[in-house]
Amino acid sequence: MKESPETLPLSRQAEFRARHFLETSGSNSGSRRLAKSRIAAKRETIQNGPSLHVIVPTLQCAHSCKYCQVSRSLEDMGHTMSLEDLDNTCATIFESPSKTLTVEFQGGDPLLRFDLVKHAILRIEALNSVEGRTLRFVVATTLHQLDDEMCSFFKAHKVFLSASVDGPAALHNKNRPTPTRNAYERTIAGVELARSTIGRDHVSALLTATKESLQQPEDIVDEYVRLGFRDIFLRPLSSYGFAKRNQSTLGYSMEAFTIFYQHALERVLHWNQEGVELREVYASIILNKILSSFDSGYVDLQSPTGAGQSVIVYNYDGYVYPSDEARMLAETGDLSLRLGRIGQSLEILQSSRVQRNLIDASMVDSVVGCKDCTYNLFCAPNPIDAQAQFGNPFAPVLQTEHCARHMWLFDFFFMKVRAADPWTLDLFHRWAAPVSGSDS
Ligand code: SF4
Repeated sequence: MKESPETLPLSRQAEFRARHFLETSGSNSGSRRLAKSRIAAKRETIQNGPSLHVIVPTLQCAHSCKYCQVSRSLEDMGHTMSLEDLDNTCATIFESPSKTLTVEFQGGDPLLRFDLVKHAILRIEALNSVEGRTLRFVVATTLHQLDDEMCSFFKAHKVFLSASVDGPAALHNKNRPTPTRNAYERTIAGVELARSTIGRDHVSALLTATKESLQQPEDIVDEYVRLGFRDIFLRPLSSYGFAKRNQSTLGYSMEAFTIFYQHALERVLHWNQEGVELREVYASIILNKILSSFDSGYVDLQSPTGAGQSVIVYNYDGYVYPSDEARMLAETGDLSLRLGRIGQSLEILQSSRVQRNLIDASMVDSVVGCKDCTYNLFCAPNPIDAQAQFGNPFAPVLQTEHCARHMWLFDFFFMKVRAADPWTLDLFHRWAAPVSGSDS
């Protein structure tokens, strides 16, 4: 909080001390102990070894989204993982000491190579009959290819689906053009098929907020409510995913995003007041940092970085990357974040020079700007974001989009919590409970 605590009424100061927003006096005070345990919890999610393993079996996709540099058309062969690399990937996953392993398939659209997804899931389960880890499978997909055979396999193997839903039909179809101009209709048909066959809670949605989306915050939230989703993640468009030359037509300012975010969040709160359960995921990440002692391990806010440590990406091109964003960067020609080749041991990959640099560049206690920042207990620099923006993971943190956005988010949510009535505060505490899952 930027406001001096002494300017607050005494009753409010006591309330904030009780919530550990303000420090109580004494070297062994509750707030200091809480701070230490939060730092330990933050590091624990990394010390447990990679728990999120992202496999990119193919870049093929039926969409041709303007902001996406990653996908390749259906006819574009040569962007698919070899079986040998896939088998090596499955073995490497178990080199992680993590008791819980989430394996997420990204693309392109992984369902265009369902054969590879199925092969990997069966192989990982076979290896796990000896390992005995807790497994969770997620497939991030447009759902356009989903059929009954896939659904029965996913049901039998408890697979979760993460679909792309950008909002109302007109917006979604504009954002995600396909030759048949019915991307929305096909995705929603897939959502309904998955819900009726695999299970209602086995399908979630993820949106990409384009310049068009910023004009429709309420409509987007209303569409998520209408479709019965329980989570909405209001993320800005990542600058990794589209060519820099398209930034003037596709990109937007931080201010434009924050205006959109505030309107959309108000709408989410409105629906909750009406009795509709809908959680905004970005809010829950920030509130988890502020209100909970148990860190949910959101990769972008870990120090040292969670990239390459709590998450690792095995790409179709035979290389291993520290995060989904890093492999997207590789598609734009920046190969500097490759950790090594699929088939190398996790130990070698994680001790690579690239990984050591990422760790050095993410140490919140020593990085200039972060070490004196009010929010350094909750936040951290993001060296991959810095690489994407400036071509250097050690670029000045205070000039990065990541810093500007999170500085704003922490300012905003500290003010929201401070002004919250009991009902809103109770909702915020429920949202702050740790969540696991994708970092992306
Ligand atoms: S808000 Fe910026 S300066 Fe502060 S910890 Fe986060 S990245 Fe570092």
